[in-house]
Amino acid sequence: MSARQVTSLTNPTVKAVRALHRRREREDTGLFLAEGLKLTTDALDLGHIPKILLYGPDAAGQPLLRRAAEATAAAGGDVVEVSRAILEKVSRRDNPQTVVAVFGQVFTRLDELDPASAPCWVALESVRDPGNLGTIVRTADAAGVGGVILVGETCDPYSVEAVRATMGSVFATPLYRATTAGFVAWRTGWPGSVVGTLLSADADYRAAQYKKPTLILMGPEQAGLSPDLAAICDLKVKIPMRGRADSLNLAVATGIMIYAVTA
Ligand code: SAM
Repeated sequence: MSARQVTSLTNPTVKAVRALHRRREREDTGLFLAEGLKLTTDALDLGHIPKILLYGPDAAGQPLLRRAAEATAAAGGDVVEVSRAILEKVSRRDNPQTVVAVFGQVFTRLDELDPASAPCWVALESVRDPGNLGTIVRTADAAGVGGVILVGETCDPYSVEAVRATMGSVFATPLYRATTAGFVAWRTGWPGSVVGTLLSADADYRAAQYKKPTLILMGPEQAGLSPDLAAICDLKVKIPMRGRADSLNLAVATGIMIYAVTA
């Protein structure tokens, strides 16, 4: 396995990788950062090949690294051995993973979504918190959801924080983007139930009849589902609140809904 060795933080490749912490840079390049050898190997298994593979001294010699490096080089990517200090800077962590890889972002077009290909789909309106978004992508993957649709202005699913929270599911769960108006127009062709989740709904989520494929609509962390999206639902449900909390965390509520619909 042949790789360049880099120890300088001012190296152009290292600078380019560090720049991917900025959303603007990710949008301009269509790239994102993912950390960890296992995650990189899982990505390879799903057909995602790194454009850049940085690895530290602790990863050198591992068979999985050799495989990742060979796949990266064969696809024309850059394989670079770096110091631990560089890994710390690149990942902004004192205890960095031994591998940091750069991949291309994938957003699938909404008109390519085939509702019948999965029993359950999730749409998130204006989600703000990358940890919530990543956790929902991970849960969607675990439960066999067809994909996650991001509606309106949302946080970036390819931020380092969101990708970390997906634990690799960002490579397995198709992501879609839509404006609110585009989503509302597209929804008219949905063959199953469109289910809105609202604290003000009368129906208990356990009593509702969900026609498959079911599209679950989740509202933003602060404001809840907007009137525009509440208006296009066939069903509106709530998860009963028994204690003092006035709502559930968005990712927790989404997980409960996904498993209720796919049970
Ligand atoms: N203050 C917001 C409101 O009034 O809706 C709370 C939003 S909550 C933190 C974020 C999203 O999670 C909601 O829009 C809804 O989709 C879902 N959610 C949270 N708790 C829920 C519950 N008990 N029943 C149904 N959906 C819930």
